[in-house]
Amino acid sequence: MVGLDAAITMHPRVWEASGHLASFSDPFTGCLDCGRHYRADHVEEARKNSKWWQRLMEVRAKGTWSAVVNWVKGDGEKLAPNLTSVKQAEAFAERDFSRYPGPHQLSESEFIKEVGGSESICPSCGGRLSEPRPAGLMLETSLGPVQETAIKGLSQARDRPGNLCQFRQRPSGLTEEIAFRNRPDRQGVSE
Ligand SMILES: [Zn+2]
Repeated sequence: MVGLDAAITMHPRVWEASGHLASFSDPFTGCLDCGRHYRADHVEEARKNSKWWQRLMEVRAKGTWSAVVNWVKGDGEKLAPNLTSVKQAEAFAERDFSRYPGPHQLSESEFIKEVGGSESICPSCGGRLSEPRPAGLMLETSLGPVQETAIKGLSQARDRPGNLCQFRQRPSGLTEEIAFRNRPDRQGVSE
């Protein structure tokens, strides 16, 4: 391991070269009810692992809508209070379910649309989620005394861009091979 000192805030072109500008803008989504935020690509798995969804799946497996209505009026209120069917429990209970296939006969995505009004449901409270939006994980700042002439600087708690710029600072006479990811002439580093 070779220690290097490097600036935290660097020119955007450094972050571009390191791949951070392209790869650190994961889409995020937020719950319109409880305000929690999630990475959009993690929402479905988080919902499937949530207690309320697992309990609801057990109820769905019973194969009757009356069991689902009972869950909505009972456990649903405690476990997923912002699920559309829970918030509108009376209206949900009054639906003419004789016209529906059994809950177990619907696909998972069809079923969740029936009980949640959408496929995009908060894993925590059952609320509706906003449209995913890119969330830049870089901190932007201006470098220079005057805003108009300052250059834009970006920072993030990562060390690799520093490796790209400060690799020459390694102690002279060092015989150790500098690690692959410290070599700016190599491509394909994904970290
Ligand atoms: Zn929520």
